[in-house]
Amino acid sequence: VTEGCTAANKTLKVGIESNFRPFTYSEGGENKGFEVELWKAISKEANLKYELVPMQQSELNKAVQSGKVDLAVAGMTVNKARKDNFVFSDPYFQTGLVILTNSDNGQIKSKDDLAGKVVATKIGSTAYTYASGLTGIKEVRGYPDISEAYDKLKNKSVDAVIFDERNVHDFQQNGGEGKVKIVGETLNKESYAVVAKKRSKYIGRINQAIGKVVKDGTYETLYAKWFGG
Ligand code: GLN
Repeated sequence: VTEGCTAANKTLKVGIESNFRPFTYSEGGENKGFEVELWKAISKEANLKYELVPMQQSELNKAVQSGKVDLAVAGMTVNKARKDNFVFSDPYFQTGLVILTNSDNGQIKSKDDLAGKVVATKIGSTAYTYASGLTGIKEVRGYPDISEAYDKLKNKSVDAVIFDERNVHDFQQNGGEGKVKIVGETLNKESYAVVAKKRSKYIGRINQAIGKVVKDGTYETLYAKWFGG
């Protein structure tokens, strides 16, 4: 327990993802990404001191629950199951999942064509849950690091990857050039928010700060920087 430590002077531990481009990722010993910069603005507005703790998503969920970190800012999708364990801030990013397959794959054109197929994605992600629920799917392989799933697709040991659309776009331009394509429409509309332990005392201030950075144009500037406006 952190009694005796007021919210204003406690340094919060904020869990981020080590490989969730372009939202949060570690590169050359630095933490980078849209959410890293957005959180910097939000925390300044909310007058919260923090340090970033990069980890994989499979560890993040546990880290928030156990109190190893106070918050997670890691493209965490708001959903009902997670609301049993966590509290979410107001959402700050609208997105969804997409299907990625090899450029020369003529069979897979939508989710209905994934029956009998092997799909790779990240363990602990909403994409993993979504893929597991697809009718007739042969196998869902989960990896702690999404780059492994992309590698399996590139060497054709799986038929497709299902994952968050912006991360998939990033891979298409950084590693997947000419080798992969997105098929079908955006699945499972999702939104990202800050995650905290239940009864966290920070969410109210964070929500106020999110409102402010949207209103004062900071959000728009960061969005344009990372997603091209
Ligand atoms: N948005 C996905 C989820 O919440 C993936 C997030 C991530 O990989 N950091 O499960």
